[in-house]
Amino acid sequence: MTVRVRIAPSPTGNLHIGTARTAVFNWLFARHHGGEFILRIEDTDSERSRPEYTENILEGLRWLGLNWDEGPFFQTKRLELYKQAVQTLFDKGLAYRCYTTSEELEALREAQKARNEAPRYDNRHRNLTPEQEAAYKAEGRSFVIRFKIEDEREIVWNDLVRGKMVWRGSDLGGDMVIARAAADGVGLPLYNFAVVVDDMDMEITHVIRGEDHIANTAKQILLYEAFGAKVPEFAHTPLILNQEGRKLSKRDGVTSISDFKRMGFTAEGLANYMTLLGWSAPDSTQEIFTLEEAAKQFSFERVNKAGAKFDWAKLDWINSQYIHSMPVDKLTDLLIPVWEEAGYQFTGGRDRPWIEQLVTLIGPSLTRLVDAIAMSKLFFTETVEFSDEASAQLKHEGSSATLKGVIAALEKHQLTEASAQEIIKQVVKEQNVKKGLVMKALRAGLTGDLHGPDLIQSWLLLNQIGLDKPRLLQAVEVAS
Ligand code: GLU
Repeated sequence: MTVRVRIAPSPTGNLHIGTARTAVFNWLFARHHGGEFILRIEDTDSERSRPEYTENILEGLRWLGLNWDEGPFFQTKRLELYKQAVQTLFDKGLAYRCYTTSEELEALREAQKARNEAPRYDNRHRNLTPEQEAAYKAEGRSFVIRFKIEDEREIVWNDLVRGKMVWRGSDLGGDMVIARAAADGVGLPLYNFAVVVDDMDMEITHVIRGEDHIANTAKQILLYEAFGAKVPEFAHTPLILNQEGRKLSKRDGVTSISDFKRMGFTAEGLANYMTLLGWSAPDSTQEIFTLEEAAKQFSFERVNKAGAKFDWAKLDWINSQYIHSMPVDKLTDLLIPVWEEAGYQFTGGRDRPWIEQLVTLIGPSLTRLVDAIAMSKLFFTETVEFSDEASAQLKHEGSSATLKGVIAALEKHQLTEASAQEIIKQVVKEQNVKKGLVMKALRAGLTGDLHGPDLIQSWLLLNQIGLDKPRLLQAVEVAS
């Protein structure tokens, strides 16, 4: 048997972290078994579905490296299939048209509430005579199509994550609506129905999705049986929780993959982190792996039942590991758009070799790509703002003379790593000051700060774009 799994997002919003994590688990499982990963867009909700969300979903999956083998299939292009399937259930006597109005349903719910009963449809239109149906039609009532669910049915499946699951027909709220009225009397499919028809048609062997779908699974199994189809295996993955243990939501600041991208996470880092949202490798100390490496080790035995807490610190850590081990040219490719977005311009000698040197300099200090904006601001602005500490350092006795000494020496030397060291030595001697003072004054003067990446390398970069001398002159003003 070839494993065939799918991710079936609804394009009613951007690619959500929960959906993306489900996609990751599907992908890992498919790749582990040499199977197929299928993409299906569940766009039957015409009011809430938008093409830009579909775009965002496809783009997000591609960005994360979750390549699919078939699709994207769009449910709105498959309506004929669902209609035929509704007809099959009619023919088998397992579905019927229900003309109950929303007012009648509301009254039913109220009565059930008053009796302290759970709300459910009472199957009142299950056995309408043709005359009754004709009368309702004549009244101009609209209808839905319901699938018969017997209360005494027991539904059992062996969930690959949660073990044996047992549901009763009576838990499912009465005969379920599978389609809404359509002009031809066959109906537009609802989620639970379309999903089963598609999963059968696409020969899905394993349905891997979030645990919020468990109640749907019970209903869907009854539909598979009604069609006489083989029931797939099910794996319900744990929810993603925030620090308070509640479902991660928009209130937690970010939920879509494009948000994570905007925040400066790398695709590889985020994908790696998502594998750990509910799963751990057999060697649980191993936390850094590519999707391909995780796929080799992936199994549902190591997927937790309990919700997976979203851990920003861990995501940051994993992300930094990817940034720190990335080849310079690749990191440069990722950082250029980040800098462009911040309005930085690559003029005045800021060519590719210079940019790569800058990336080499700051790369090891980055946690998120966007950190590069603040960290490299001093290389993209003509003048620099001196921090309070830096100003204080510049006002320190000896700083001004030191900086003037450096400026004078710069006139005579072409700046290289060696000559920079030479200049520092020379100024120490001439001014009779400690090397530490020269270094601090230089750092404060060149970068406007007392902390930052390697000083000599920073100086060389500023020198290459002709900014070191003006900076030092600016610093001398502050110093005196
Ligand atoms: N369209 C459903 C969702 O986005 C798919 C659920 C499923 O995988 O069956 O939640």
